Amino acid sequence: MGPTDWLALSRQALLHQVTHGDAVHSLSLLRRHLMETGRSVSISWLADGERRWVDELAPPPNPALGAVAAGAPAQSADGCWCLPLDHLSARVGLLCMTAADGDVLTDFEPLCEAAAALAAACGRPRARASGDDSALLRMALRGAGTYVWEWHPGTDELADIDEGFEMLGYAADHFAPTQAMWDLLIHPDDRDHNHAAYLRHERGEIDQYEHIYRALAADGRWRWLHERGRIVERSLDGSPRRMLGTQTDITLQRELESQASADRERLALIARHVPGVLYQFMQSADGRVGWFSYVSERCEAIFGVTAAELTADASALLRRVHPEWRERLRASLAVSARRGAQWRLEFPIRRRDGADRWLLGTASPQRVDAQVGDGGTAWFGYIADVTDLRELEAASRDKVAAEAASRAKTEFLSRMSHELRTPLNAVLGFSQLLELSRTPPLADAHRRPVQLIREAGEHLLTMIGDLLDLTRIESGHLRLQLDSVALSPLVDECVALMQAQAAAAQVNVIGATAAGLLVRADRTRLKQILLNLLSNGVKYNRSGGAVTLRAHGDGAFVVIEVADTGVGIAAEHLGRVFEPFQRGAHGHSTIEGTGIGLAVSRSLAELMGGTIDVQSQAQQGSQFTLRLPSTQQCTL
Ligand code: ADP
Repeated sequence: MGPTDWLALSRQALLHQVTHGDAVHSLSLLRRHLMETGRSVSISWLADGERRWVDELAPPPNPALGAVAAGAPAQSADGCWCLPLDHLSARVGLLCMTAADGDVLTDFEPLCEAAAALAAACGRPRARASGDDSALLRMALRGAGTYVWEWHPGTDELADIDEGFEMLGYAADHFAPTQAMWDLLIHPDDRDHNHAAYLRHERGEIDQYEHIYRALAADGRWRWLHERGRIVERSLDGSPRRMLGTQTDITLQRELESQASADRERLALIARHVPGVLYQFMQSADGRVGWFSYVSERCEAIFGVTAAELTADASALLRRVHPEWRERLRASLAVSARRGAQWRLEFPIRRRDGADRWLLGTASPQRVDAQVGDGGTAWFGYIADVTDLRELEAASRDKVAAEAASRAKTEFLSRMSHELRTPLNAVLGFSQLLELSRTPPLADAHRRPVQLIREAGEHLLTMIGDLLDLTRIESGHLRLQLDSVALSPLVDECVALMQAQAAAAQVNVIGATAAGLLVRADRTRLKQILLNLLSNGVKYNRSGGAVTLRAHGDGAFVVIEVADTGVGIAAEHLGRVFEPFQRGAHGHSTIEGTGIGLAVSRSLAELMGGTIDVQSQAQQGSQFTLRLPSTQQCTL
């Protein structure tokens, strides 16, 4: 039996005492209850230095003990806990309790406090308002939203229920004061539980009847009542004769509770949908003790520590922080607390699963009022995992640096190409002049070397031209002249231009284009692409091989295919042939080339609104497919 039970018994005894003005009966009632609950307790009355047991207790000087006020709990000379009772400022005695074996009751103090509060509430001078102690107690209880009732099970009469009806908004005499009537006001869903709670108490299974239920108020709404009671008198056959109790309207409290729980649920829902952790962190004024008063569930995914672990022990997070950063974390919090400034820190942790992550914490500090707290600090904040963001930032920094380097390279190549072209044009011009000179004509012995100088110069000029094209495309400075171009004549022209190179390589170049195809293209640039594809088909071919150019319409596009019977491209090189300077298997071969042609061709095709792709296998030949928008009129 604990203090709460003592409190309940004492409350009843006091209630009885106040209602009936009979202290002796009240005390013996209390003793009987205590004995009924199996606790053998002696209650004594200490007055004028003399201890008298309750049975021998003479009535106190003023028979209306209800007017007696109880002082603060104190200990008597023999160490027993007592409740001093005063009447008209004069101490009339002490209410003492000792265990039957004479031991001092250590759990008597809370009982005394509660009893003192009750007694104080009813023990004011009798000259007021009603002059009735019961009314005083009722007023005190009513102040706390609690009403008293009394029930006689034998007759079903509710002897004391007026205030209960009034609490629900009915006139006191509106209903017959019976429990049967009151039951009708109880919500149908709660009625059986209510009765069951009473029966458990009646059978002695529970010390006190207690139940929370809904009752119908006069305005048609349901009000929540918290009802407690106890059978205080039984007949000789054990059947209940009299029951006393209280009921408290807790509707507002329930509404506040459900509001608070809705707020909590809403916060949890919001917290579940934000990527980081929401929290409230508290720290004592001396900065020594810190704890999370709230932390959202996401902390498990982000820190690898559950919310329950963190609220129980904030250092569970600190232990995950990289050791070198712990002090920095503490110091930054101390500065934030001292200056009342926003806290912000990026720090590394190792999660429980071993993953190393970077967190960014931000929070606003608030001084905890010394009146309510200890003058410490509360931070309301947010912690996010910024590992991916940091990696992205680093990658973007690298990208900016790479782009700057690439721009510098493009600029350099562009300038160099220009610078090389001027002297090269002079070399080409003079070698042509030498070849054509008639006065005096070129000696036969020099004719071949001069021809070689010119051919090498022309090759160099083509390469520089490609390089310039590439730099212009990369810098976005290449301008195209888009027209409707008849494909067939252009293909014939390209095939004719290829004949010398093809003959030298003993490769057959064939143009098989359907007549009348029109493409939207820059004629010069399309010619450049076709020559590049045909030239590659010849270059990477075998003696006796063939290169075939076919074209056909495909809806809004014209498809041009250049297929060869050459060496093909191995799978590992296939994906990179359109990248500048990638020569695949021919990086060190004797076949001349720079690895620029296809890169320029693809860019040009794309600038004309088309695409270029390749299909090839090593030793199986290659097929390049160029698709360009058609300008064909729709013909039936
Ligand atoms: P280049 O021919 O000057 O090296 P390209 O950009 O035209 O540069 O071609 C890039 C690379 O693609 C070539 O070095 C070669 O390895 C491969 N390639 C291109 N066309 C063919 C082809 N028809 N057959 C086999 N390989 C080819």
